[in-house]
Parts: sequence; structure tokens; C-alpha cells
Amino acid sequence: MNVNAGTRLLALLGDPIEHTASPAMQSAAFESAGVDGVYVALACGADDLAGLLRGIAHAGGGGNITLPHKERAAGLLDEASEAVRRTGACNTFWGDGGRIHGDNTDVEGFRRTVRDFVPDSVRGRRVLLLGAGGAARAVLLALIEEGAEEVTIFNRTPERARAVARRIGGARARVASGLDDLKGLDFGLVVNATRLGLEPSDPSPIDFEILGRVRAALDLVYTNEPTTFLRAAARLGIQNTDGREMLVHQGAVAFERWWGREAPVDVMREALGKRVEV
Ligand code: NAP
Repeated sequence: MNVNAGTRLLALLGDPIEHTASPAMQSAAFESAGVDGVYVALACGADDLAGLLRGIAHAGGGGNITLPHKERAAGLLDEASEAVRRTGACNTFWGDGGRIHGDNTDVEGFRRTVRDFVPDSVRGRRVLLLGAGGAARAVLLALIEEGAEEVTIFNRTPERARAVARRIGGARARVASGLDDLKGLDFGLVVNATRLGLEPSDPSPIDFEILGRVRAALDLVYTNEPTTFLRAAARLGIQNTDGREMLVHQGAVAFERWWGREAPVDVMREALGKRVEV
């Protein structure tokens, strides 16, 4: 790689960032596409976010935002995409003409994952969404746009699920107050958008046995070993995959925003290694 005065800086801003796979994935994409940029991960506290984001964007660079800053970043933009406005979260930013632009590519990343992986499990079907944090908001918007008949949200803190349902889901979102509300229900797709699974000792966020028929299960978490959620789905013969595919697709959309050209998706997928499917 030949770094010079024209090289653009793209940075992932978050805390913690030690386990991120984005630098490996984006660096492979930059090299393959021959674009003049470097991608780094910077540990960034809440007080430093505004300064770093503005400074990098005004210098012609950009990057990604991860936990816990996606909501804060949404408030720092001059030009917010519709996905940012509807979810209240930003995961991708870049400078252009002195203005800071932002998008939430988790929305399009999840939509592309659905189209690739479970094209028949969402449109006109009921979907169970586990979690109500930043990622769940992006997933809910994508599910509604992909034509899910109804999205049932189940979260440890039901008030948070109600707020997300009101903001994004409208009439097609329903909140389950407890497991009793889910008993025997059929779902085209079950999505884990909680943090459960990041640690090997984490339990599954749902017991599939209490549900009715489930066609597919998608975990947003990506780890080297299958999560308990994916293993539980596999035991019942449910088609399943981990969060790697969504990571690739949200990263590919971010690449398109920065460079105005198609991302080398296969190279990015290869840089992450094989996705976990059990
Ligand atoms: P977040 O905003 O912090 O939300 C965390 C969610 O997990 C909340 O719904 C929270 O419930 C729930 N939760 C946390 N601990 C729990 C526990 N012990 N039991 C039950 N529920 C628990 O995080 P996020 O940004 O939405 O990220 C969620 C996950 O998605 C993370 O693992 C992240 O790595 C992953 N993700 C993956 C991709 C990808 O491209 N593959 C993209 C974005 C995010 P409460 O509301 O009750 O606290």
C-alpha cells in the first residue's frame, strides 16, 4: 500500500473496538478495488466523538460508528439519510464539500442479507425480533420495508421495545410482554439482535421449543463458534446463519457511500472467514 498526502482516512469510532473485524474486511476491499484509503479502528470515548468525527470528515475522510455512539453520531450530521432519520442511529459517515454526511447501512445490510439468505421467510410472514437496541431498530425498519406482515418484538426491557415499535414499526409492530405471548406462534424468521451470544457462556435469548413452526433463524452476533441461539435452531432443523453476512453487507454499502462504486463483496466475505452455519 502506498500512503501519500492524498490518501483518505477512514476510521471506525467506538468503545470497545478490540474485537472488530471491520479493519481486516475494509482493508482487503480497499486493496482489491485499488482505492487510495486506509481504514483504522480508534477507541473513542463519548467526549471525543464529535471532535474526531468532524475532524476526519472535514479532512475529506469518513468511517464507521459502532457501540455505544451510533445514536450520538446521528445528531452530529449535516446531511442525514432517511435510514438515519427513521432509526435515529448512524453507523457510516463521510465528508463532502465541507458537510458531514451520514447513513445507517445496517438497514440496507440487513435487507441484502434477508434477500440472499431467507428470501421467502419475511414477505407476508410474521417475524420475531429479539432485542430493542440500536441494531434492532435497523432490523425492524428493514423488515417493515421488506414486507413482513407483522414483527413481534421481545426484549428484556419491554418499555424499550414499545418505544422502538412506536417509532419505526407502526401498525405492523407488536410487543410481546412475556414468553406467554409467544407460545405456539409460527414465525418465518427469528432474529437475535440482543448482545447474548458474544460470550460463549451466554444462554440463547429464546427457547425455540415454546414457539410453533420456525422457518429460519438469523443471529446478528458473529463469533468463531456457533452461539447457543444458532445451536438451538440447528437442533430443531431450522435453517440458520450468524452475523457475518450482515457485517459484509453493511460494510459493502458503507464502501459504496465512501467511494461511489460497487464494493468487492466476495473479497470482503473472504477476509472475514467462513460464516458459522450449523
Ligand atoms: P445495544 O444497543 O446495546 O442493545 C443491546 C440489546 O441486547 C438490548 O435489546 C438489550 O436489552 C439486550 N441485552 C443485553 N444484555 C442482555 C441480557 N443479558 N439478556 C437479554 N437481553 C440482553 O446493542 P446493539 O448495537 O443493538 O447490538 C446488539 C448486537 O448486534 C451486538 O451483539 C452487536 O455486535 C450485533 N450487531 C451486529 C451487526 C452485524 O453487522 N452483524 C451490526 C450491528 C450489531 P435491554 O434493552 O433490556 O437492555
